[in-house]
Amino acid sequence: MLIVKKFGGTSVADKEKIFRAANRCIEEYQKGNDVVVVLSAMGKFTDELVAMARDITDKPPKREMDMLFTVGEQMSVALMAMAMHKLGVPAVSLNAFQVAMHTTSTYGNARLKRIDTERIRNELDSRKIVIVTGFQGVNKYDDYTTLGRGGSDTTAVALAAALRADACEIYTDVDGVYTADPRLVPKARKLKEITYDEMLDLATLGAGVLHNRSVEMAKKYGVPLVVRSSMNDSEGTVLKEVTTVERMLISGVALDRDADRIAVIGVKDEPGIAFKLFDVLAKKNINVDIILQSIGREGTKDISFTVQDGDLEEAVAELEKHQERLTFQKLQVEKRVAKLSIVGAGMMSNPGVAAKMFECLYNQNVNISMIATSEIRVTVLIQEKDAERAMNAVHDAFGLAD
Ligand code: ADP
Ligand code: ASP
Ligand code: MG
Repeated sequence: MLIVKKFGGTSVADKEKIFRAANRCIEEYQKGNDVVVVLSAMGKFTDELVAMARDITDKPPKREMDMLFTVGEQMSVALMAMAMHKLGVPAVSLNAFQVAMHTTSTYGNARLKRIDTERIRNELDSRKIVIVTGFQGVNKYDDYTTLGRGGSDTTAVALAAALRADACEIYTDVDGVYTADPRLVPKARKLKEITYDEMLDLATLGAGVLHNRSVEMAKKYGVPLVVRSSMNDSEGTVLKEVTTVERMLISGVALDRDADRIAVIGVKDEPGIAFKLFDVLAKKNINVDIILQSIGREGTKDISFTVQDGDLEEAVAELEKHQERLTFQKLQVEKRVAKLSIVGAGMMSNPGVAAKMFECLYNQNVNISMIATSEIRVTVLIQEKDAERAMNAVHDAFGLAD
């Protein structure tokens, strides 16, 4: 069997944890399996790198940021390889260049395009444990890129797909995927299983336990994915196409506090305006979420939407640059908002789920400023100060608590 094991930052945060993770991999190796390990930077090291860059300049060039980021993952893989050597097991660490992890050229948010597996295969054939840097890639200019924060999960799944691994295990600091972030909702419950689609929505809507692209990729290539704890042997959560146990209306609640709202006020009420507006943002790779357009009055209307914190400045600058062509009178920005979502495949066949969520928020006296829905999710935009209380209340209202 070939198994890919990924350990996140907290799971390799110090010497003891590195050895614990090393032993877990060695156990698998000694059963005769091939083991590929993907690591994140130790602890909060990536955040520290961000702070170091900010100390030098407010606007570090994205290329240089990626150059800096790659140090973190490189440190963990080298130390892990040393730990395995110390334990008497042959291991080799490889960075994105050595493997050749080809990505698109966008610094800071690149997508994996192709992974050369030859070097890894050769190392596995000589019975080594192969330890690969997560999060990083190489673009067509031979520059380092990174896959976006939390991107090591995606490296692991992509490697599992490329190597046709029999299993891909994501080891982290919680026991699996919960009905909500256990740090915010103390009553959250661990799920035995979750569908790829539900997990994809949860991850995209703020459940940081998995990088959303890792879920997208796992679904696309049918990678058997498990999320489990690096601290204990409990079973974890299995991702599946269709779940069989625990059929619930809602599988989880997610909160995204990084959302900001931009209102474009007084655009001309004529065809093509929405296209022009969102095209300007799309050209800069700015993702837009919930969109709301007001009814026209006196030939003008307003268009509001949400963007992620990191994109706000650029979005505003781009819109202002094109103010005349986009015909708006002014922009309004609201930063103290949060997106609260419920996700569940059970919603599809059950009307009234959205109403139940709105009723719960009404009982909590929480005002909703925007709403978006799909077949398996409902998202509302609310004030950030209400967010945690609302999240716990909604979690309770759907009977998800332990
Ligand atoms: P790692 O460093 O292992 O990648 P992350 O911090 O990226 O770990 O992800 C694990 C964290 O995700 C948990 O500590 C938890 O606070 C958070 N989290 C958010 N939503 C969920 C959820 N639905 N289930 C489990 N954990 C969640
Ligand atoms: N070290 C990177 C980060 O902190 C990647 C990861 O942990 O997945 O975002
Ligand atoms: Mg993570």
